[in-house]
Amino acid sequence: MRANGAPAHGVALLTFPLSPKGLRSATDMTITIALTGSIGSGKSEVASLFQRWGAAIVDSDVLAREVVKPGSLGLRRVIQHFGDKFLLADGTLDRKRLGNHIFNNPSQRLTLEGILHPLIQERSQQEISQACKAGVKLVVCVIPLLFESGRDLSQFSAIVLVRAPEELLIQRVMARDGISKELALAKLSAQMPQEQKATRATHIIDNAGSPADLERASRPIFDSLVAQAAR
Ligand code: ADP
Repeated sequence: MRANGAPAHGVALLTFPLSPKGLRSATDMTITIALTGSIGSGKSEVASLFQRWGAAIVDSDVLAREVVKPGSLGLRRVIQHFGDKFLLADGTLDRKRLGNHIFNNPSQRLTLEGILHPLIQERSQQEISQACKAGVKLVVCVIPLLFESGRDLSQFSAIVLVRAPEELLIQRVMARDGISKELALAKLSAQMPQEQKATRATHIIDNAGSPADLERASRPIFDSLVAQAAR
């Protein structure tokens, strides 16, 4: 699904052709949105703000770790396919080794995604349903690779993109993860360019300033999404 016309900058777009009700049922007032952005753009910061203001957060990175925890079906399938060299001594998945293995290997990456994505989506639907039942107005699914993963966008009432100039993304990722400029750049280059993401978003939050600027840019978008839930 694509936004109707240009995405909103700083202020919310009031009409767009994504599912206008998201996962809302006749009896509740919850809308489900996706929050995405390139590595280091500030998704986690925006998710924290939205959570502080009352949203429920469903984080696909957290779920991705959960579906391969020891004893899980996900871990069993991953090890069946990739081998037990990807198990650490304590029985947990060696995520770093697996990450390196698939980084330059597209077919292995697809296989891994084929195992994990359905499990992550199932868990995410469970969390969304729980939030709906609890009467939360806004459920925010944080999905870093929303567009790259080919996920069905029609389940979301809005798609919020957080973005920042590339040099800033690289600086932030280097500082946060303690990695080299080359590695930060390689990670960023493996993702869809921000300009392409921007054409698919319904709302854009620019995060080129201070944390206070980010909070100021995020609030009107949060308010309009909550207002949309109440309609
Ligand atoms: P993402 O979740 O999109 O990868 P994060 O929210 O983790 O990005 O932000 C990346 C890093 O940059 C974090 O260390 C975060 O605290 C920092 N950061 C994010 N936004 C700002 C900002 N406006 N000013 C200063 N630091 C920021």
